[in-house]
Amino acid sequence: MQTSPNAVVYLVGAGPGDPGLISVAGAQALARADVVVYDYLANKRLLDLAPAGAERVYVGKSSNQHTMTQDQINAVLVEKAGSQKPEARNQKEWVVVRLKGGDPYVFGRGGEEGEYLRAHGVRFVEIPGITSGIAGPAYAGIPVTHRDFTSTITLITGHEKEGVEDADSRVNYEALAKLNGTLVFYMGVKSLPQITRRLMDAGMAADMPAAVVRWGTHPHQRAVTGTVGTIAAVVEKAKITAPAITIVGQVVTLRDTLNWFENRPLFGQRVLVTRTRQQASELTSGLCELGAQVIEAPTIELAEPEDWAPIDAALGRLNTYDWLVFTSANGVRAAWERLRRLGLDARALGQCKNVAAIGPATAEALHAIGIHPDLIPEKFVGEELAIALADRIKNLRGARMLLLRADIARPVLRDELLKAGATVEDLPIYRTTLPAALPDEVVAALAAGEIDWITFTSASTAANLHALLPADLRQKVSAAKKLSIGPITTAAMNQLGWKPTLEAAVHDIGGMVAAITQAFQK
Ligand code: SAH
Repeated sequence: MQTSPNAVVYLVGAGPGDPGLISVAGAQALARADVVVYDYLANKRLLDLAPAGAERVYVGKSSNQHTMTQDQINAVLVEKAGSQKPEARNQKEWVVVRLKGGDPYVFGRGGEEGEYLRAHGVRFVEIPGITSGIAGPAYAGIPVTHRDFTSTITLITGHEKEGVEDADSRVNYEALAKLNGTLVFYMGVKSLPQITRRLMDAGMAADMPAAVVRWGTHPHQRAVTGTVGTIAAVVEKAKITAPAITIVGQVVTLRDTLNWFENRPLFGQRVLVTRTRQQASELTSGLCELGAQVIEAPTIELAEPEDWAPIDAALGRLNTYDWLVFTSANGVRAAWERLRRLGLDARALGQCKNVAAIGPATAEALHAIGIHPDLIPEKFVGEELAIALADRIKNLRGARMLLLRADIARPVLRDELLKAGATVEDLPIYRTTLPAALPDEVVAALAAGEIDWITFTSASTAANLHALLPADLRQKVSAAKKLSIGPITTAAMNQLGWKPTLEAAVHDIGGMVAAITQAFQK
């Protein structure tokens, strides 16, 4: 295979798992990738940093299921380096990212890949990553060095080639025991009984503290502690398997004081977030920051209205309305999109005398297009908006109002405004539809009863989840704890037989995060 001269392979350290722990240089390489060749231990969410059109090649291995041998992986790298179309070769650099868990050169065989690339005349760049042997302990509250306890840290592989006898081991346990510093073992879960026995044989005290951290820095991280004498039994009892890091040394005692990650309020909670497919979920990031493990269930798909004609007509005479009213951020975005599609811009909205938003998220969407709403009610439901409008305008008689909303928006706002004597045009500017199915991950987690909380941000997320689930899984929803954003959603949930455990006191995303946090702290 002829490699093109402008091909570069980036050996990128993906970091230990938390996607925020990749380096800036690594993220930049991913953003320019034409091909990404990735591992079992590299967080799949990092693949989102690569362009949508980039080729993604999985070469991962988990310990019992080798997808590819190292030789095959090496060959793939050289092959991908040469896979740029010949006609494009003088136009742009061809970027292959080899994304590897942790740091590529720390027990990652990155050195071997570099040698192979060099031997085949392929240019490469190595971008270090945060190794799991440092980050895993850190997220378990264990600093690998500390002036009071140790002046060395040793990284050791606990996995040697099959069948190596103690006498032939390349690891010098006598030296390790003498160092009296921190020892960090990678790939050592299965051989933990031998490792600890050999440390003690070499003179290490049986009561030397030890810890094992599995899936460190991930929301499902798990850690156990013991001593060199007990840790193998502790791990077996807790059924801890790879991938895990073993830490031996006095620094382990600091975990009691420094365990910031597992002590976050929602750590260990699995939360199912129902949402629209198109919406980047603020709720998800809020919950993740508090330590929750979030699974997203897209239950609503947004679609264009069936008929644009009445909307286009209304957008064409915005100067004739006294109030333009939005009741969702989606409505604002749909209106903005449509204006642009019609060849109009922000000046068209300048013709509206007043703009109202139902709540902060809608107001935020308006801010984003340069409109500061004249009115945002105190509480965030349709009735309140009607009252606030009536209060503000005093006499709604004869006021001309344009409502741009979802097809399923509740009639109450329109009815109240009509009752007060306003002229109301209530137009659906987007439709909400049911997706074809839920992601497998969601179905599996529900079926296994692994969900602690389910969040509902609207009546339709509840109705649609219900519609998307078979009867036995609806039962699982009943059994989980449920959080509702507010009274309308609560009413819909009650009708479905899904009484909420909790309703947010403030009916927005921030209010939901606060409610679930408080519930858990009690
Ligand atoms: N290059 C990687 C290590 C690869 S060797 C790095 O620098 O981190 C694979 C071993 O790394 C696993 O068996 C396990 O011991 C460790 N490991 C990788 N990611 C881990 C994680 N998130 N939590 C605990 N151990 C991890």
